[in-house]
Amino acid sequence: MSREIPEISVVIPVYNEEVHIIQSLLSIEKKLKSITSSYEFIIVDDGSRDTTWDQLTNHGTSISHLTALRLSRNFGKELALCAGLEHACGRAVIIMDSDLQHPPSLLESMVRLWREEGKEIVECVKTDRGNESLDKTFYSTIFYSILNHLSGFDLKGASDFKLLDQKVVQAWRGMPERNTFFRGMTAWLGYNRAQIPFEVADRVGGKSQWHFLSLLKLAVNAVVAFSSIPLRFVSMFGLLFLIGAIVLGVQTIYQKFIGDAVTGFTTVILLLLFIGSVIMISLGIIGEYIASIYKEVKGRPRYLVSQKIDSELMESSNNN
Ligand code: UDP
Ligand code: MG
Repeated sequence: MSREIPEISVVIPVYNEEVHIIQSLLSIEKKLKSITSSYEFIIVDDGSRDTTWDQLTNHGTSISHLTALRLSRNFGKELALCAGLEHACGRAVIIMDSDLQHPPSLLESMVRLWREEGKEIVECVKTDRGNESLDKTFYSTIFYSILNHLSGFDLKGASDFKLLDQKVVQAWRGMPERNTFFRGMTAWLGYNRAQIPFEVADRVGGKSQWHFLSLLKLAVNAVVAFSSIPLRFVSMFGLLFLIGAIVLGVQTIYQKFIGDAVTGFTTVILLLLFIGSVIMISLGIIGEYIASIYKEVKGRPRYLVSQKIDSELMESSNNN
């Protein structure tokens, strides 16, 4: 049975949000209903370990036009977003979080900019990071200033809370990489865009799934996906050390000639340690790029859907 193409698709990745998922969806739906009657929800359960999936199967019918996909395990938010975008067929697709940190009150302005001003991407930009912990704000600031310099795109304050016209989604689908970074990819796409500033609201319930290591992994993936400049740094380091080596070489030969060659032992030890660590870091940087190429050539699917439910059909199917 084929469904009519909705005006708006709302894509929401969900991981361990049992406490408030239905409540959040209901309040997003309430807002959405005041904007359009033609909408669908694409909820991607990113392998939750709590009862999030049961909540969706048991109470999903209270939300109209809801399709829920259950990924076979936790693939991470980036890939859960991919799954949602690949299943969203609305004329505009809105991506938002399930914890109401992306305020539904902004949906109206987002849709208006798309409908009336023909904007193809409407992105909500964080002016205030809400109740985020100080260390997360600190790491994010460092990460974005490095990424902005390396990638050439201004991603400061960027969030995943965006509206994309279906043609942008189609263009995004033409980017088949496995190492995805949604915020960066949409910046790369270009198109006619508008920005809406917003303050990140407090989480309605549960707690953020991010921790230092997952943020570090996201940061490394994003840099590798968006810039090859770190590889150039490696060559520049090499060049710098060559110049240093020539200077020290000339000095050593000179000392040998004047018979003063034994001093400088500390310098040798320090240089060995320093050069050793630079070589290791350089190998690590090259390794990250090789790992990324390895991931791409393996050509594995980005994610696997283990179950799918549709609130209209209320059919549950296993389609591994
Ligand atoms: N999320 C996900 N997979 C994950 C981690 C998070 O789908 O592995 C979802 C989560 O349920 C939420 C959104 O991504 O809807 C943002 O996550 P979170 O609130 O933990 O991040 P923060 O707001 O702290 O950046
Ligand atoms: Mg959140």
